[in-house]
Amino acid sequence: MVKSFKCSDLGMKCEWSTKALNMIDLMNKISRHVDQIHDIPSLSIDMKKKIDKAVKEELIK
Ligand SMILES: [Zn+2]
Repeated sequence: MVKSFKCSDLGMKCEWSTKALNMIDLMNKISRHVDQIHDIPSLSIDMKKKIDKAVKEELIK
């Protein structure tokens, strides 16, 4: 299984999405993206909860 996340699920007007094999990698990718693109240098607890809910699991093809 691979974990996938779409930035628009956070309520951002953004087409960015990402995938990772585990939650730690995924969170790292997301925090880098929101820092660089959305000017959010660190994820709040609230944001992390939203991300947790938004993350979907997909089968690796
Ligand atoms: Zn974004």
